[in-house]
Amino acid sequence: MAIHERSLVEPERILRKERLVVDGVDVSGDWNLIILPRVINDYDLDFAKEVINSPDGKTINQCYQCSYCTASCPVHNYWDERYNPRHFIYLARLGMIDELQKRADVMWRCVSCHKCTHRCPKGVLVEEVLKAILRTMAKKGLIEEYPSKKFDKFFTESVLEYGRIEDGELLFGWIEKQGYKVFKDPILKKPIPFIGETPEWLKQLTMKPIKSMNIGFLVLNAKHMLFHPRTKNWSRFKQVLRKVMQEEGALH
Ligand code: SF4
Ligand code: SF4
Repeated sequence: MAIHERSLVEPERILRKERLVVDGVDVSGDWNLIILPRVINDYDLDFAKEVINSPDGKTINQCYQCSYCTASCPVHNYWDERYNPRHFIYLARLGMIDELQKRADVMWRCVSCHKCTHRCPKGVLVEEVLKAILRTMAKKGLIEEYPSKKFDKFFTESVLEYGRIEDGELLFGWIEKQGYKVFKDPILKKPIPFIGETPEWLKQLTMKPIKSMNIGFLVLNAKHMLFHPRTKNWSRFKQVLRKVMQEEGALH
């Protein structure tokens, strides 16, 4: 018997004997698969209300569980089957907090491609709703701050500092935060890309495009990475911007 979305069933709840004969009939294989019932002890009915009342969560109630979103989601299809937008919405609407918490390690992995939202026949703003679920969980202390949120903060601070996105600074500053040793210039103490420890995946990811760049472009990029071009009057403007963002609760 095929099980729809088998990844949603915990392995310890699936029972299957290697070989099973019932009344002389060999029912080995999928035919003898049994799923133990799931026991749910608790529902938090206020949870869904909080999601609905948040600016991004209003469309959660339009979901009728067709699973188009999950079928089109690259994170579900190519990375981790446990990442399942339809299922997260289902759990949030029922207030099944324990089940949501079990999935907290994958729920933040959305890559914001919006495929789910484009495919949803009911107009659910899926990505926004998922973020609203995560934010509500964080607000209620049900999950620790998730990695993508930490990166968002780091990104915001970097843009506030320079008034623009400094790719090398951002990437290697973040890598340093993950515990790698990154070499810094002795004067400004800024990370110098690719000197020190660089994760293997990043080396592979960057070497191919670098090899295809012409020398002039490479030199220009290297120069910009070492001597960041300044945005005019940024130091004054950033103080104002920081103050406004703090007042609006956009900086923590
Ligand atoms: S596609 Fe829309 S209606 Fe269907 S499960 Fe996903 S969110 Fe719900
Ligand atoms: S926006 Fe997020 S949830 Fe939606 S399809 Fe893309 S990765 Fe999946």
